[in-house]
Amino acid sequence: MYNLPMKAVIIGAGLAGISAAKSLHETTLFDMITLLEKNPYIGGSAHSFSFDGLLFDTGPHRFHTHSKELKSEIISLFRESELVLKKKSSSIFFREKILNYPIEMSDVLFKLPLTDSVSSLSSYLSSKIRNGFRQQEPANFEEYIISNFGRKLYNIYFRPYTEKMWHMPAKDISSLWATERIPLASFSKLLLKTVVSLFKRRFKESHPHSPYETLFLYPENGIEMISQRLIPGGIELLKGFEVKSAVNNGDRLTAVSNGDMIVEGDLFIFTNPLPQTARMCLNTDAADLKYLPIHMFFIPIETARISRNHWIYFPDTKDVFYRVSEMKNFTNTYPENRTSLIVEVGELHNDSVDETFELIIKQLSEKGLLQARHIRKGNFKYHFLKNGYPIYKKGFEAKREMMYSKLGHIKNVGIAGRQGLFSYLNMDAAILSGRRTAENLLTELKN
Ligand SMILES: Cc1cc2nc3c(=O)[nH]c(=O)nc-3n(C[C@H](O)[C@H](O)[C@H](O)COP(=O)(O)OP(=O)(O)OC[C@H]3O[C@@H](n4cnc5c(N)ncnc54)[C@H](O)[C@@H]3O)c2cc1C
Repeated sequence: MYNLPMKAVIIGAGLAGISAAKSLHETTLFDMITLLEKNPYIGGSAHSFSFDGLLFDTGPHRFHTHSKELKSEIISLFRESELVLKKKSSSIFFREKILNYPIEMSDVLFKLPLTDSVSSLSSYLSSKIRNGFRQQEPANFEEYIISNFGRKLYNIYFRPYTEKMWHMPAKDISSLWATERIPLASFSKLLLKTVVSLFKRRFKESHPHSPYETLFLYPENGIEMISQRLIPGGIELLKGFEVKSAVNNGDRLTAVSNGDMIVEGDLFIFTNPLPQTARMCLNTDAADLKYLPIHMFFIPIETARISRNHWIYFPDTKDVFYRVSEMKNFTNTYPENRTSLIVEVGELHNDSVDETFELIIKQLSEKGLLQARHIRKGNFKYHFLKNGYPIYKKGFEAKREMMYSKLGHIKNVGIAGRQGLFSYLNMDAAILSGRRTAENLLTELKN
């Protein structure tokens, strides 16, 4: 038999850490598996809570995956009544108009002012002709978007939204962010479909169907239920335990500590932010791999519903928020006469939570999306998500690779998850990465 480790330590009880713990637990090779979580709750970014009698997620999440096995596994965790199947509905609030999200050529042509539509179409076509409909290797986010959508749409929509959210010039963002996050496969097809429907003179009645509309799963009692159901029994879970340092004994790690308590182990999986892991395990500074924080406002609203959208995106730089979501469209637990909004903000107005809240209400009211009288004064909850999104700054890939490679030399250490890998993973990918890292470490240790 191999000289297998007996005690595993996992840092972070988000989906990646939980699924890593589950995989190790299922091997029955471990005397003890300890899951260390700095928060008083599990679920990480996919956390749910109740406020003012209403259910909220720390940013509503939809669960979707291309893996049939994972989908079946998640479904099997719930009774039929506990998991709902929803059709995603998202919009862009753009120049006082509601457009489909992701942006569609039909909306650009028929919903924008004529001058914008014509110049968007001509700049899209000229960029396509210039590239010969071939994808050039883009140097950054700006080049990627211009070559795929044209300069006009970049200037009026993509650039303001992106720079508002990321607080940096779009030129400085890696094209990888666009390739991973912005669906474009069908933009040309949609144009073709729109033109065809124009010739058939029926475009007014039949809005081209968005190929991006997808079905997703949502647990009735909040997205955190996935973590609650996945976490295995029989492991040690220490909440409120923030790992601050690690003991590195040559090519192996022997323990981690929160400053008060030392937890020893034979195998370690880190799902906390990659720069933290690099500092603790390698004594290396990876501070230039940064995360974008999100200021979230959870606002109960005394009206039946704001819209049928799950998410609405706001590219206008005058708006303090960039995305708003309505939980009532995710779960059926809301009472008939109440709803809520979750508002995501990049930078606080005047550095003040209260002033930002007032501005949110003012701007949403001006757009006709809500009425201030439907909100009880000061009735909101604020949450600061420090590590919302890994920032894909141009050139970051080489630094990330270097960290992966250096950590790879510590035989009994693995990294996983969205923060741990510094990668823009969705929930399904986070679950799979936790599992994969656990399996890889076991194989490595057996050899
Ligand atoms: C606003 C928002 C909306 C999203 N929407 C969707 C969506 O609709 N669909 C989708 O599939 N995905 C979505 N995601 C992504 C999804 O949340 C993540 O993919 C997933 O939750 C990542 O899980 P994780 O375990 O990798 O990381 P995390 O959830 O970040 O977990 C890491 C855990 O480590 C803990 N930790 C950190 N440092 C330490 C430390 N030093 N010591 C101990 N513990 C520590 C943290 O507290 C946290 O619990 C969204 C993300 C955000 C931010």
